[in-house]
Amino acid sequence: SFISFEGGEGAGKSTQIRRLAETLRGRGFDVVVTREPGGSPGAEAVRHVLLSGAAEPFGSKMEAVLFAAARSDHVEQVIRPAVERGAVVLSDRFLDSSRVYQGVTGGLDAGFMQALERVAINGMMPDLTLILDLDPAEGLRRAGERRGDETADRFEKETLAIHEQRREAFLDIAHREPERCVVIDASRSEDAVAERIAAAVDALLER
Ligand code: C5P
Repeated sequence: SFISFEGGEGAGKSTQIRRLAETLRGRGFDVVVTREPGGSPGAEAVRHVLLSGAAEPFGSKMEAVLFAAARSDHVEQVIRPAVERGAVVLSDRFLDSSRVYQGVTGGLDAGFMQALERVAINGMMPDLTLILDLDPAEGLRRAGERRGDETADRFEKETLAIHEQRREAFLDIAHREPERCVVIDASRSEDAVAERIAAAVDALLER
């Protein structure tokens, strides 16, 4: 099965992925934890170009194509082989991040984004997408505690309004694709969020 985690900064995706992976491994599942941008050697090289801002001067279309190139490599090198051998793949961000960051707040048109999405995922749609929903002011406060990493430059330039627009865009995706997406209230305690995620994942794995 293929499960993606989405949401804004500081929503707790990586913490929750770590917890879920541990739980599932304890139950005997073969679990692969991965992330975007990145997740395969080729895509990690592209991640560095994207998050350092090196591609920014060339425009948002260029960046979106690079995100798609990275995703294609990640799908073919890591995700598809793992799913085919029966593993549970947990990805920290996937296509919905592109729809939101490059499409909605990056200002690229829907047709262009859909074409990129189609070639990048090549049929590998997540079976379940967990959208960790949190007030961006709170998310940024939480994320602020780990500033200084490779994404620091990007944080500085973005206004709260942009983060709010992204929150709405993720909720809009969940609303349009209720079969795939589950919205998780990420303002609750770490344990409460983990419990809610486990319930959604159990429902998928028991299908
Ligand atoms: O929050 P995370 O650690 O996943 O940070 C990755 C960063 O990469 C995001 O904050 C976002 O700025 C950027 N990103 C993006 N478009 C994507 C995925 C990530 O701009 N499709």
